[in-house]
Amino acid sequence: MSKAQSLISEDSKYFAKPGRIKYYPLAIESGKGAILTDVDGKSYIDLLASASSQNVGHAPEQVTEAIKAQVDRFIHYTPAYMYHEPLVKLSKKLCEISPGDFEKRVLFGLSGSDANDGIIKLARGYTGRPYIISFTNAYHGSTYGALSMSAISLNMRKKYAPLVPGFYHIPFPDKYRGMFEHSEPGTVEEYLAPLKEMFNKYVPADEVACIMIETIQGDGGLIEPVDGYFEALQALCRENGILLAVDDIQQGLGRTGTWSSVEHYNIEPDLISYGKSLAGGLPMSAVVGREEIMNTLDAPAHLFTTGANPVSCEAALATLQMIEDEDLLTASTKKGAYVRERMAKWEAQYDFIGDIRGKGLSIGIDIVSDRQAKTRDNDAALKICNYAFDHGVIVIAVAGNVLRFQPPLVITYEQLDTALDVLEEAFEKLTNGELDNYEISGQGW
Ligand code: PMP
Repeated sequence: MSKAQSLISEDSKYFAKPGRIKYYPLAIESGKGAILTDVDGKSYIDLLASASSQNVGHAPEQVTEAIKAQVDRFIHYTPAYMYHEPLVKLSKKLCEISPGDFEKRVLFGLSGSDANDGIIKLARGYTGRPYIISFTNAYHGSTYGALSMSAISLNMRKKYAPLVPGFYHIPFPDKYRGMFEHSEPGTVEEYLAPLKEMFNKYVPADEVACIMIETIQGDGGLIEPVDGYFEALQALCRENGILLAVDDIQQGLGRTGTWSSVEHYNIEPDLISYGKSLAGGLPMSAVVGREEIMNTLDAPAHLFTTGANPVSCEAALATLQMIEDEDLLTASTKKGAYVRERMAKWEAQYDFIGDIRGKGLSIGIDIVSDRQAKTRDNDAALKICNYAFDHGVIVIAVAGNVLRFQPPLVITYEQLDTALDVLEEAFEKLTNGELDNYEISGQGW
């Protein structure tokens, strides 16, 4: 039995089901940059970046050194009662890099989910309105508030209702497929119609606190919006005194080639949430927003004992510094363009590639069984993923059939070439019916 196998069998005796979506028997020993090494010594190129939480790569020295230095000074004192310098510095930095030409404030937490819960509280508190609107297919997290705002999987709803009341969902303005898997995307007006119907018939617009968007729906399948939708949505929000919030937990901090993914659109959200890569993978989240909204509630409305942990703060400061020092925003854009050039050839070459989309190094490859109808081919996507895993490349499928291409931004061009070679081999094998031996049942979202 390999070390990985025995570890995984031990894991199954103690770790519970709801905490892991099953993909591969990968038990990690170490990581550096975009490379992971498993407990049996096999190396992999990581195209998942720990669900986009390793934008600066695995164990970069700049970040590990900052962590070690802070651990030796003091590990924690809660911001719920006292002050520390790393928190102050990081708050300032987050205000500087976040979009919006207005006075801002920051609140910290431990996971993307709790940051989104913070947005729910702040939006309700500031507006005095009860309702929150978000999108079908959205993933905002796993706490009760964040999952009530999500609409991506019945497993996030089944058996533990009632959820938090006051949430409505509208269709995401998918640029590739239309609403309800229709093969043609809608227009901005068509996508706004369900919201307008809602406002006319059953949700008074002046009772809506906030609309929450992911600029690119990440776990929902790397879905991009039709041009102009967010701008039109913002106009509708402003008209009705509704706050606009962006969940930038997956798409932020360089993933799409900019500090905030909001920079790709002509919008200025009132509130924004960060998580994942913020502290290089240490637990940390933040809400950044307009001062008057952020200061609307009184303590202890949104605080966590171990939030803004100084070790995480130092990790975050080093992470953001590294993004600047190594110009990882530009790297994300350039490397994204580089891989897209080769991927464009795939679109011409393989009928089962329905769409390749995204920004920077946040890319989705949509695998279909019928290009015209855009029929999702979940099995084919998982076969490709399994072949890649067997050949040293970590990639998963989201939304069933969409390959998630989100490597650490520090990935080298050589590593990108190798990963693309492996994916191309998988596509060739799929074309020739040579991937049918993979046992894929029970895998994936
Ligand atoms: N929002 C988005 C867009 C995410 O992708 C995720 C995680 N997949 C979350 C929120 C939740 O973050 P966490 O798991 O850290 O709570």
